[in-house]
Amino acid sequence: MPHKDITLLLGLQGWCVEDVTIHCGREARIRLERDPPFHECSQCGSKTTQRYDHSTRELRDLAISGKTVYLYVPQWRVVCATCKAIVTEQLDLCDPDQVMTRRYERYVAQLCEQMPLQAAAEREELSWSTVKRIDRKYLQLRNDARQFGEVRKLCIDEIAYRKGQRYLTVVSDYDTRDVIWVGKGRDKAAVAAFFEALGPAKTAQIECVAMDMSKPYIAAVAEGAPQAFIVYDRFHIMKYVNEAVDQVRRDEQKVADQAGQELLKNKRYVLLYREKNLTEKQQVSLQELCRLNQNIAISHLLKEDFCQLFECQDTVEAAYFLDGWVQRAQDSKLEPFAKLCEQLDRWREGLLNYFVHRVANGLAEAINNNINVLKRAARGFRDLEYFMLKILQRCGGLPPLTQVIKTS
Ligand SMILES: [Zn+2]
Repeated sequence: MPHKDITLLLGLQGWCVEDVTIHCGREARIRLERDPPFHECSQCGSKTTQRYDHSTRELRDLAISGKTVYLYVPQWRVVCATCKAIVTEQLDLCDPDQVMTRRYERYVAQLCEQMPLQAAAEREELSWSTVKRIDRKYLQLRNDARQFGEVRKLCIDEIAYRKGQRYLTVVSDYDTRDVIWVGKGRDKAAVAAFFEALGPAKTAQIECVAMDMSKPYIAAVAEGAPQAFIVYDRFHIMKYVNEAVDQVRRDEQKVADQAGQELLKNKRYVLLYREKNLTEKQQVSLQELCRLNQNIAISHLLKEDFCQLFECQDTVEAAYFLDGWVQRAQDSKLEPFAKLCEQLDRWREGLLNYFVHRVANGLAEAINNNINVLKRAARGFRDLEYFMLKILQRCGGLPPLTQVIKTS
């Protein structure tokens, strides 16, 4: 094939193919030359044809017919009349100091959209760190190009990203079901930073915020978006109900240990899941546990009972149900439930707000699960900024890759 045709095939404007060699049947090495021979000064951008000397750059490019392609590109030092100096020319094929063409980087970034990083690295025979660098770069570009839409219903959550109490604050939009913000920490400042990024006009339109019963979050919303109602949804409340169930289990475990019984070992999850979601075997295990230990049986019934709250149709019905439940919980004389009743009393308004400003119950849970999958799939995510970008990517908060891809 004449090189003219390979030049057309490559489609790199301003470059022509000088030579092609195939190595070991799987690697194509293509030598390029500028056509026409104009060079751009990397200092001032002016054009020149005055060459001084050159070095050859090796750039990985898109594969052709299954062959790995390396371009061999002369990079000239040129005499710039404007700068009155010998300067290195600008290469339009790649970003400065990169060993691959820009279009190949974009291709790798697209792969990372569709598969785990390790899989993309193996497929392209690139190192994990190279693929990560590319992925991070394009995620950052997408994050920079991001614009907030209007938001009415928010969900604010904290997630632990490392052992030892390191947290991120994750803000999601109930209407689009997207994560729209990830900030460091779980304090008031983390939420305040989100309101600042959203801007005063859009912040003023927020109707309600579902969240954990965290004092800093409550304070941040009261100050930043005072018009918004605070809502405690099922996901966040149930965390505390489950904690009470678990505390009863631990207390009973202690008693059983002292009596030398093995009654409660490995029963934690049987107690924490909804009964209707248990397997047949787990249900038998649960029934046996409840038969052997009365306090556990009571705590289990109180939890199952509490779930009914979210079936209530309005605030009046919910308030009536809640009062009845609190009475039953207090009658149980179980210490963890007594504590929970005190907390529910403090959270009452936010809890009842749920029946006015209903939010989809599955969202906080789904996002939590999604982030946990991401945590497990990634090797550690020691790079926190990258992890934050990956959350936005996985949970929908970034504009599409095509929006930030330059066509050069
Ligand atoms: Zn110049």
